[in-house]
Amino acid sequence: MENKPIARTLRLLSQLMELHEVNPFKIKSIANAAFKVDKLPFPIAGKTLEQLEKVDGIGKSIASKIVELFETGTITEMDDLLATTPAGVVEMMGIKGIGPKKVAIIWRELGIENTGELFYACNENRLIEAKGFGLKTQEEIRKAIEFRMASNGKFLFAQVEKEANDLMDEVKAIFPDALKHFAGEFRRLNEIITEIVIVIGTINHDVAYSALSQSHILNNVVLNQNHISGELNNGLLVDIICVDKADYFKELFLNTGSDDHVQAVLERLSTPLEQPENEEIIYQKAGLAWMQPELREGTTFIEKAEKNELPALIITHDLKGSLHNHSTWSDGVNTVEEMALYCRDNLKLEYLGMCDHSKSAFYAKGLSIDRVLQQHEEINHLNKKLDGFHIFKGIESDILYDGSLDYPDEILQKFDFIVASVHSILKMDEEKATSRLITAIENPYTTILGHPTGRLLLSRSGYPINYKKVIDACAANSVVIEINANPLRLDLDWRWHQYALEKGVWLSINPDAHRVEGFLDMHYGVLAARKGGLYKEMCLNALSLPEIAKVFEKKVGSRV
Ligand SMILES: [Zn+2]
Ligand SMILES: [Zn+2]
Repeated sequence: MENKPIARTLRLLSQLMELHEVNPFKIKSIANAAFKVDKLPFPIAGKTLEQLEKVDGIGKSIASKIVELFETGTITEMDDLLATTPAGVVEMMGIKGIGPKKVAIIWRELGIENTGELFYACNENRLIEAKGFGLKTQEEIRKAIEFRMASNGKFLFAQVEKEANDLMDEVKAIFPDALKHFAGEFRRLNEIITEIVIVIGTINHDVAYSALSQSHILNNVVLNQNHISGELNNGLLVDIICVDKADYFKELFLNTGSDDHVQAVLERLSTPLEQPENEEIIYQKAGLAWMQPELREGTTFIEKAEKNELPALIITHDLKGSLHNHSTWSDGVNTVEEMALYCRDNLKLEYLGMCDHSKSAFYAKGLSIDRVLQQHEEINHLNKKLDGFHIFKGIESDILYDGSLDYPDEILQKFDFIVASVHSILKMDEEKATSRLITAIENPYTTILGHPTGRLLLSRSGYPINYKKVIDACAANSVVIEINANPLRLDLDWRWHQYALEKGVWLSINPDAHRVEGFLDMHYGVLAARKGGLYKEMCLNALSLPEIAKVFEKKVGSRV
């Protein structure tokens, strides 16, 4: 064993002790020893207890720990601490800028147990509520996590959307008259982006190359035949393909769909793909209706394109209201009134559904029964005041471990609608998670199933569920499934939208806004919904105010 891993183990031990607030002198001596061991000019492996004790900065008790490490491969004291620390909490201590002291606060005060949740909390502005955290620290932590997430070359769509559009603006400035478009994952509106692909109808790749080499947006620019590759400032790979104008639509088609989609379309062609004048002709020759780029994943929609039954995909303008949002009553930043006015005046929506956290979500200031009743009074008052706009009384009720909701029936029945979500004890096997959700779905008070898997893209996989069983249960109980529009969630995954729609299950595009700007996430929810093939007739919050009021009334009526 070299010195480095020994030093690392000692450092982890001292961090764990700090996290669990063990005697500060002990922590300090172990941290010092870790530092010393790292710097020693000779290896300590194989040294005896007596020899180790004599090494400056080690001492008796630490020497025995090192010997234990040599002999057993671990240190009991460390194992004991690890046993009471979630793995995600240990991982958080490795993030630049937060030591054990900060992690202890994040974990204990905010109930955050892994990096994904921490990133989510930074984006929701929740970190500043904890002792010793300011806006600046929050921003540093957010950046450090973003850097880590990006280190494997994957990015959230929302993280790269602006940079991609800036790059396109540069391309437009270089070739104002050429045909050009995004292709690949970005054009397909994928939730995760690993590369930006742009196709340009020009053979002047030298011009593009020299102009883009000067660009402040693109780094490490390389020209390889007709491909210009590079990296955006955040590290995202870029591939710009310059092709003859006559080949432009063919190349755009070939570079847009997923491989199996492109293959499936090509196989249907009786003549080779020559120089089509647009993409429609390609699909037409394949006996298909033109397919929106976001539907060009696999073969799911090909059958529909063949029968000319592709859905008229939902657009942002179809949305008439926003359900599932938080206010200062729980962990939101804006008041109910501010949230309502933003929806009415900035977004021109007809209604707002308030869904603050329920009482079990202590770290999010979940509402006690008294506070629920007080909030209802405030909403009644606001509804009288707000002209032509309505606030629905909702709650994001925690789904408890046994699948029950978080209030007694006499309180649950006071809400216009209820979003039921899992927020705690996310470690479950598929059977447990599925049955927990189904119990909540079967509760007559549940209107919408919130973020069904709890995933945080690129950072937390979410609990495993049997999608078919969960969706079937929603169909049987007339429960709507949320498409949580937060770009980190996008949960229900678009890959399951078709199954839900086929079963007659409605979907709802919910921003889960914790501040007024959070409503803008509905944009990402719409993109995900379009990929899933959602159309406005099956989207709950595409209903007008009178229509949705009737749906809520009926649901309330069916409980009694
Ligand atoms: Zn939630
Ligand atoms: Zn929420």
